[in-house]
Amino acid sequence: MAQSPRAPHAAQHPLLPGPFLPGTFLPFSRPSITAADIAAVTQVLESGWITTGSKCAEFEQRFAQATGALCAVALTSATAGMHLLLRALGIGPGDEVVTPSMTWVSTINLIVLHGATPVFVDVDPDTLMTTAEHVKQALTQRTKLIVPVHFAGAALDLGPLRALASNRNLTLVEDAAHAAGTEYEGHPVGTEGTAVFSFHPIKNLTTGEGGIVCTDNEDLAARIRRLRFHGLGADAFERESRGRAPQAEVLEPGFKYNLPDMNAALGLSQLARLEALNARRAALAARYLERLENVEGILPLAVPAYPMRHAWHLFIVRIDERRAGIGRDAFMARLKARGIGTGLHFRAAHLHEYYRTRYTPRQMLPNTVWNSERVCSLPLFPDMALADVDRIVDTMGIVLDEAKR
Ligand SMILES: *Cc1c(COP(=O)(O)O)cnc(C)c1O
Repeated sequence: MAQSPRAPHAAQHPLLPGPFLPGTFLPFSRPSITAADIAAVTQVLESGWITTGSKCAEFEQRFAQATGALCAVALTSATAGMHLLLRALGIGPGDEVVTPSMTWVSTINLIVLHGATPVFVDVDPDTLMTTAEHVKQALTQRTKLIVPVHFAGAALDLGPLRALASNRNLTLVEDAAHAAGTEYEGHPVGTEGTAVFSFHPIKNLTTGEGGIVCTDNEDLAARIRRLRFHGLGADAFERESRGRAPQAEVLEPGFKYNLPDMNAALGLSQLARLEALNARRAALAARYLERLENVEGILPLAVPAYPMRHAWHLFIVRIDERRAGIGRDAFMARLKARGIGTGLHFRAAHLHEYYRTRYTPRQMLPNTVWNSERVCSLPLFPDMALADVDRIVDTMGIVLDEAKR
């Protein structure tokens, strides 16, 4: 990834946050990498053991501590975690999985690859999160699993969702890809139930690529641990270091989703800074909210009113063409031409070509469709300065003025 030049004081200390130089491209996202992160990965490279080993085990332990989870199994991605969960839960043909369409396509792809049917539910128009009310309307005799999404760093209203799942004897798996550091009613996401986190480079904590399944179900964790490495009773590290026989047997056909120590070492180093990283995100988000309060046609997401702690993974606005005088796609293109990168989270899954032509949602999804056409994620990452937010909002102002002329 190309490095953007920083302001002169930052250039003397290349790992110190400072505003991006005026006139240089300000990307939508960039991982925050410190000298300590680099040293941690280098140490693994020099150690003679670079694949899954003691660093992965330590990362799992620390992440479980941080979230309050009973068990944590690290994997090469959140998608891998969802794959193994669907496998472990026995999701297959005839089963229905209830999930919002306002999500990343990985979940939907996996449901379909398992021969099951995704049943799309709508979301709150201003938090983009689904609720127990939406989910309830979608339940049938065939429903096996519910996969709601903690969105943009905010927490789902888990209380009613958990009550609904438990009343109907359904499994609930939280997509927590955006929720490293998010809390609901005073508890970190991951403390209770089963949640899948992502450590992709744009997420709040990165391992390069990676993910983790947190669960309070020990049997489920053991099954995922086995499926993550060929279905063997033990992985290479366990065989080597814990005296397990290299003749370990396949107990069931499994996959190859173990997280290497190179990645886990980066995760450990990042996890130690997660609080600080999220605090910077919160400060940047507060500046955005303040500066965008009265900008016509630019609508930030709402922050839920129930008790929760926001991890500010994304700062999403909706571009309302009628009032802004410009549509979302043109808005993104004009910002890019003026040196500001943006993202799109998400184009609704049911509107992607493959799904559009094969699945007609049973529910109307008006809030999902409205937002799918208007959402735009503004730059938000810990190495940004408040002055960068100001530059972005000022540039948005120029683009909006231009559009009105
Ligand atoms: C990033 C993301 C995922 C997938 O994470 P990977 O680690 O890239 O597999 C899943 N769901 C949501 C909502 C995401 O944003």
